[in-house]
Amino acid sequence: MKDLIRPAYNAGGYVFATKAADIARSAGYERPARLASNENPYPPPPEVLEPAGAALQNANRYPDECSMNLRAALKEKFGNFSYVSGVGMDGVIETVIRTTIGKGDKVVVSTPTFSFYRLAARAYGGEVIDVPRNDDFSVDIGRLSDEAADSGAKLIFLCSPNNPTGNVIPKNDVEKILKSIDGMLFLDNAYVDFCDEDYIPLMNKYDNLIIGRTMSKYYALAGMRVGFGIVPGWFEEYYERAQTPFVLNTVSMAAAAAALRNDSYTARYLSIVREWRERFINESPYPTSGGGANFVMFDVSPYKGDEVVEMLARRGVIVRSCASFPGLGDHYIRVSIGEPWENEIFLKELNSL
Ligand SMILES: *Cc1c(COP(=O)(O)O)cnc(C)c1O
Repeated sequence: MKDLIRPAYNAGGYVFATKAADIARSAGYERPARLASNENPYPPPPEVLEPAGAALQNANRYPDECSMNLRAALKEKFGNFSYVSGVGMDGVIETVIRTTIGKGDKVVVSTPTFSFYRLAARAYGGEVIDVPRNDDFSVDIGRLSDEAADSGAKLIFLCSPNNPTGNVIPKNDVEKILKSIDGMLFLDNAYVDFCDEDYIPLMNKYDNLIIGRTMSKYYALAGMRVGFGIVPGWFEEYYERAQTPFVLNTVSMAAAAAALRNDSYTARYLSIVREWRERFINESPYPTSGGGANFVMFDVSPYKGDEVVEMLARRGVIVRSCASFPGLGDHYIRVSIGEPWENEIFLKELNSL
C-alpha cells in the first residue's frame, strides 16, 4: 500500500522536540524546563479565555467564514491592510504556496532557516533553491536577489528575526530585495514582536510583499493555532480561493481577536525576554547568535547539538538541537527564554556541562 504515498513524503517531515522530553521524563523530571519551542511560558489572561469560552457555546454552527471579528481586530492593531488567516502561520505559508506554486516552480529560501517552507514547497512540486546566508547569518542581499532573478523564482522566503539564528534583517535590505525581484517575498515575522524593527510600512509601497505573523509566540496562543498574513490587496481573493473552507475555528478566532485587543499582559513577558536574552548572551560560555527573538542560538562546539540536548534533558532542561536545520552545522542549540526559574536552571546547567 505504501506505494500510494506521494514521493514528497518518503523522507522525514517536521522535527519535533519529543525525544528530549522523553529523556527528561525518564530521568524523573515531572516538570522539566521547557525551552525548545519558543512558546510564551505564561497562559493567556482571563480577557482572552472568557471570549474563547463564550465562543464554544456556538460550536454547533460553522464559524464565520469571513473572520469578521478577527479581521477587525487586525485592522485596529496594524492598520487598514488586506489580511488572510490560517491554521497557524504554518497554515498561511502552506496556503500561499498552494496559491502560487505548482510542479517545477522555483522557490528561493534564505538558509539556514525554518524548515517548513521547504517541506511545504516540495509538497506542491516546487523546486527549492537554497541561498546560504553569510558566516554571521546576515543575508547576502545581492546573492539572494540574483538567485531569485536568475531562477525566475515565484516565491522567496525570508525570516526576520530568523529562526534559529535570531538575527534581524534591516528594513532597508528587505526593501532592496523587494525592488529587485519579479516574484513575491514572504517575510516571516513570527518573532518581530521581540525586536525593534517594523516592516509593516513596506506594505504601503510594494505589491509583492506578504508579511507572515503568528499568535503562537508573543500572544501566547500556540495551542489555538492562529496565524495571519498581511497581503497585497490583489492577492487576497486568490488566497481565499485556495484556502480550505472554514479553516479557522470559532474558539481560536475569538481568542485571537481578544488577544490582539488586549496585549498589555504581554508586557511582562517582553521584559523577561529582553532581560534574559541579555543574560543568556552574557553568561554563556559558548558563542551565541541572535538577539532579536525570544530565543538565543548557542554554538556548543566541540559538542554536537544533539549531545547537548541529551545532556541537558537528563538534567531536566529541554532545548532544541539545530542539527535538523538544513545548511547549519551540527553544533548548535536553540534555547527559548522561559520563566525565570527555567532560564536560571538552563544557565546553570549549560555552564556545568
Ligand atoms: C513558530 C514559527 C512559525 C509558525 O508558527 P504557527 O504556530 O504555525 O503560527 C512560522 N515561522 C517561524 C519562523 C516560526 O518559528
